[in-house]
Amino acid sequence: MTEEVPHILLVEDEINLARGICFNLEQEGYKVSHVESGEESLERLKYDRFSLIILDVMLPGMDGFAVCRQIRQLDARVPVLILTARGDDGDRITGLSSGADDYLTKPFNLGEFLLRVSGMLRRSAWYRPEPVEESYRFGDNEIYLLSYHAKTAQGDIDLTDLEVRMLTLFFRNEGQPIPRATLLEEVWGYRSDTETRTLDNFIVRLRKYFEPDPGNPVYFQTVRGVGYRFNRISSDKPH
Ligand code: CA
Repeated sequence: MTEEVPHILLVEDEINLARGICFNLEQEGYKVSHVESGEESLERLKYDRFSLIILDVMLPGMDGFAVCRQIRQLDARVPVLILTARGDDGDRITGLSSGADDYLTKPFNLGEFLLRVSGMLRRSAWYRPEPVEESYRFGDNEIYLLSYHAKTAQGDIDLTDLEVRMLTLFFRNEGQPIPRATLLEEVWGYRSDTETRTLDNFIVRLRKYFEPDPGNPVYFQTVRGVGYRFNRISSDKPH
């Protein structure tokens, strides 16, 4: 099997910044397509597949969050990295609830940016779902990792690539606390010393999908000072 060069779509209206990003990504060996508006990116997505979408929030016309929601209609799985000049947590949550997988605040450090990109593009063997499509059940949820699909109490949803990575990690370590650094490293490819709220906001999203009461989670539990643990309650376990 030949390894394809990852093709990245950059949606950024600041031309100088876009040039810099394209240059650096190309130096890393990626193929990059650049568009200047959300509308153009949605056009591109109708006939092109990408390995990663890097999406600015402040765009002329439709903003990045609205674009992200529409991207998810066209391609549920593709990793989406949101770039924004604003750094407050509210924006982060908006970004992640609109279907993005990670968030980087401008101005960002180039090394940090490239690290996030390579982490999101990583296709390591371990998180690949088993070749046999078996669903994973807990509560009212049925998760199909191979087809990136889940049935929940609120209806059917399509899962993103990073959601599947995280769920795979949780299911394989059921009942055990997983340290934050491990989750960041295995799902996003971060170094463990990275300060980020992305993980916590991502957990908020999983709880909204799968918990009967997201404010009082029973499946995706916080382990104070450590990280998170996935636990099925005893009635969910197969006999
Ligand atoms: Ca902009």
